[in-house]
Amino acid sequence: MAPVRVGWIGLGIMGKPMARNLLKAGYPLTVYNRSRAAVEELAAEGATPAASPAEVARQADRIFTMVTDSPDVEQVVLGPQGVLEGAREGAILIDMSTISPQVSRRIAQEAAAKGVQALDAPVSGGDVGARKGTLSIMVGGDREAFEAVLPLFQVLGKTITYVGPAGSGQEVKLVNQIVVALTVLAMAEGLAYARKVGLDLETVLQVITQGAAGSWTLSHYGPRVLRGDFAPGFMVRLQQKDLRLALESAAAAGQPLPGTALVHQLFRHLEATGAGNEGNHALVKVLEALGGQGERG
Ligand code: NAP
Repeated sequence: MAPVRVGWIGLGIMGKPMARNLLKAGYPLTVYNRSRAAVEELAAEGATPAASPAEVARQADRIFTMVTDSPDVEQVVLGPQGVLEGAREGAILIDMSTISPQVSRRIAQEAAAKGVQALDAPVSGGDVGARKGTLSIMVGGDREAFEAVLPLFQVLGKTITYVGPAGSGQEVKLVNQIVVALTVLAMAEGLAYARKVGLDLETVLQVITQGAAGSWTLSHYGPRVLRGDFAPGFMVRLQQKDLRLALESAAAAGQPLPGTALVHQLFRHLEATGAGNEGNHALVKVLEALGGQGERG
């Protein structure tokens, strides 16, 4: 049987290493990205470059999207030269971006009208998980479509969970983002206090990572904070997008999210001071500023 042909749209911090893992696993891969550098890079490694999402879809049985926000997914899927213009009946569209659950449900309906099944499959595990193929993937949509895509998910991630009908993957991801943002705040607040009172930060990190305060965030981003390395893993502006999605969805459901609202406001300081493209662990700088601490050296 001919191998499943895979299409990939969106080659950013997450999309590029994920697409590369599928290529390395031996799947024929067609790629599209808005800016061209990442396309050339993957083409040099064996992928077929495409000039539009529709062209990707014409050459693929499974079409992945990994772009930024709801309007971006709408554009690459529903827009002119979008996936649904090129996809054949029976193809499966898998959106791995984090977007609004409502938009995911609408895309699934519009895809179904063209005989294309759609899964919402957002991920957690950061740039590190994308490179290592160890992401957590939470999948909403038709269960049979999920089973059909499972071998590809297994290349991209380690914990792959079917969570329910269309839109549920995004709902679970928002829960994840609420918890992640508050964990980043916990780390930032703790490390800002430690610096203020003059503790040795390496020692602090070593001790608390092993105890009850330990977390993925602390283990992966704590060392970057200490090095003063605020390059993204997960960009502040994307974190803000996800908190906005969570706050909107919770408001519609009538559920207060007081901690989420607070951390959303604190991240705004980073956006206002031009640090929106830094990693979300840069939140420590906001807490340090609140404590009147000088710039990091
Ligand atoms: P990123 O580095 O900004 O990449 C976004 C990619 O989407 C870029 O290649 C961009 O193209 C493309 N794109 C955006 N809007 C587009 C549009 N309208 N049309 C065509 N292409 C478009 O972001 P990322 O970190 O990879 O994140 C991607 C998604 O994964 C987001 O939804 C994010 O919330 C989610 N996510 C990220 C992480 C993480 O740790 N980074 C973790 C979990 C989930 P250009 O190159 O032209 O800009």
